Amino acid sequence: MYDEQGAQYLDCINNVAHVGHCHPLVVQAAHEQNQVLNTNSRFLHDNLVDYAQRLSRTLPKKLCVFYFLNSGWLGRAHLFCRSSEANDLALRLARQYTGHQDVVVLDHAYHGHLSSLIDISPYKFRDLDGQKEWVHVAPLPDTYRGPYREDHPDPAAAYADEVKRVLSSAQERGRKIAAFFAESLPSVGGQVIPPAGYFPRVAEHVRSAGGVFIADEIQVGFGRVGTQFWAFQLQGEGFVPDIVTMGKPIGNGHPLACVATTQAMAKAFEATGVEYFNTFGGSPVSCAVGLAVLDVLEKEQLQAHAASVGSFLMELLGQQKAKHPIIGDVRGVGLFIGVDLIKDKATRTPATEEADYLVSRLKENYILMSTDGPGRNVLKFKPPMCFSSDNARHMVAKLDAILTDMEEEVRSCETLQLWPQPSSAQ
Ligand code: PMP
Repeated sequence: MYDEQGAQYLDCINNVAHVGHCHPLVVQAAHEQNQVLNTNSRFLHDNLVDYAQRLSRTLPKKLCVFYFLNSGWLGRAHLFCRSSEANDLALRLARQYTGHQDVVVLDHAYHGHLSSLIDISPYKFRDLDGQKEWVHVAPLPDTYRGPYREDHPDPAAAYADEVKRVLSSAQERGRKIAAFFAESLPSVGGQVIPPAGYFPRVAEHVRSAGGVFIADEIQVGFGRVGTQFWAFQLQGEGFVPDIVTMGKPIGNGHPLACVATTQAMAKAFEATGVEYFNTFGGSPVSCAVGLAVLDVLEKEQLQAHAASVGSFLMELLGQQKAKHPIIGDVRGVGLFIGVDLIKDKATRTPATEEADYLVSRLKENYILMSTDGPGRNVLKFKPPMCFSSDNARHMVAKLDAILTDMEEEVRSCETLQLWPQPSSAQ
């Protein structure tokens, strides 16, 4: 990224510029389609069908109906635009299909800015008027900070049992569950990697309570995790959510979003007879952009690139963890990595102020980084997918230098405190 004076920054956090800021092929696709036609989605266009077909090739067969946000609809490929809209529609689909109202979410989750989504985002509603009676919160499946940690024999089952408990307690109060709503990798919750096998178990509990499983891939989809195209696929081959929502990286900055679901869910939704219409979503230009992003991902093999650069970066960060006691945990998959900063190894108290200071020092060094998690102490890596091994080396060298500086500053303060204090008589 460049600022207004041309200074160059290394962007480690921008998952919206997925295939790279201003990627020429994406810019060109938008420009060419703009010169031909961009209009209200009531006017059907091949780009829409082509794009739905291309997306369907990345997903399990069952997820074969696509709603694109910001527009009207076309047979099996419906359209729309902002990611929040995708999650709001997912909620409507789940409620229509199940005939239930209630939602189970993970603690500290964020799913968007619409009223319906603030209500299911503990990250927001805890600061507002609190929790609605139809919202139920399960613990984050965080094996570093949560109740079941790396030493637990089966954290996936233990965290899934927590969801079961939340479901049972809601049902005992007469509540009916429409959906379990979670990011496939909780990012706002602190770059958490749920233990493998957690989602399939949760889905079993949720489905037997009459609800559906919604995977929010808005931050983490489109090859970022390296070994898979979608992050929910890390949970095992057989696991398929009932709804997947997509946003941010989907359009490389162009406002586009999508909901993928099953025929059964779409049928239940359409059975209301209320036509779904959204003027701009899935417009010819939006779909041209979406197609170009998929083309670039393929041509530049960015998913495989994310796997190899991501594991190299994890290795470098692991070396930093061995060197700097402030680094409590390094976790990640592909180019989705969290570095958990702590004050103390035994208590794992979040090093919030230190994290904040580190981020500002990195910015002085022209590196863009930020924090997430309840303690705002987890450095989050989710760079554009073209992030290179050289970028990784450069970033980690700066991180090392700043942490070393910080440690020296602490040491000299401690030494000062050990010196005898001057008495008032001197
Ligand atoms: N879901 C998740 C996981 C998000 O991180 C966000 C945005 N930060 C949204 C949904 C909402 O996306 P938008 O801001 O594009 O509406």
